[in-house]
Amino acid sequence: MNSDTDPNGAAALDAAVGFALPARHARGRLVRLGPVLGAILSAHDYPAPIARTLSEALVLTALLGATLKDAGGQLTVQAQTESGVIDLLVCDYRAGELRGYVRFDAERLAEQPSQPSLFALFGKGYLAITFDQALSGERYQGIVPLEGGSLGEAAEHFFDQSEQIPSLVRLALDREGAIAGGLLLQHLPAGEEGRERLHARLDHPEWDHVRILAETISGKELTDPALPLDALLWRLFHDEEEVRILSTIPLSRGCRCDHDHVRSVLARFAPEERAEMADEAGAISVDCEFCSRVFPFKLSDLEA
Ligand SMILES: [Zn+2]
Repeated sequence: MNSDTDPNGAAALDAAVGFALPARHARGRLVRLGPVLGAILSAHDYPAPIARTLSEALVLTALLGATLKDAGGQLTVQAQTESGVIDLLVCDYRAGELRGYVRFDAERLAEQPSQPSLFALFGKGYLAITFDQALSGERYQGIVPLEGGSLGEAAEHFFDQSEQIPSLVRLALDREGAIAGGLLLQHLPAGEEGRERLHARLDHPEWDHVRILAETISGKELTDPALPLDALLWRLFHDEEEVRILSTIPLSRGCRCDHDHVRSVLARFAPEERAEMADEAGAISVDCEFCSRVFPFKLSDLEA
């Protein structure tokens, strides 16, 4: 499943590692994507700025998804905009599987410099993060404006505003856009369980201490395929009393589109509406926006 895990189990690519710094009441996740990123992007033919934005969003999705306690839960990151080059960006995570796509205006993108700002890409946009817990059926959604210089900054606002958890988020891509990595570090003085958190003071010294250590992480370290994630943690926090590795989750590309579901969606349309969707030969083809898989149907197969 994950061929880039070395025999010692020290994952370097396509994995999320959870960790805790118990003495500092901090927890975090490290993620690095390699082949999974290539697999997701290969279903699309995105220009570089769009591919890079989606890559960062996928890392963010993996960082947040890996915090789900319920293994069957789903985490969705969605960016919606009113006037940006990007109209919609959606990524989701379930049980280690990632997928995502972007809808954008190619003509307007062509007018942008080669590395457009977050504002140029998203305009007046919003970032919605949705946690769906499968077992409890609980659903929680937080929405924050897409502000700041990067998706990572917008995610920090999400935690500060919606969750009121002091957080550090770093997202990085290598020059070729083949490897992406990210770090999420959070201060949870009252533990991760429950809503009662003693977080009110954002200037907590133990948080400042670990935040400053975590801020030394470089984009090169986050995307270095030769540097196992646990070795990177050790490099950041080796002076701490204890760095506890909580879990390593292998990540893969996964899409949940299926023939029967697409058929059931089409079947809900009125026959006249389906006729309008069909081509001259009486065929409707629906493609999955996430993975580009094409589902062809004949009108005659959809009747009754
Ligand atoms: Zn699909």
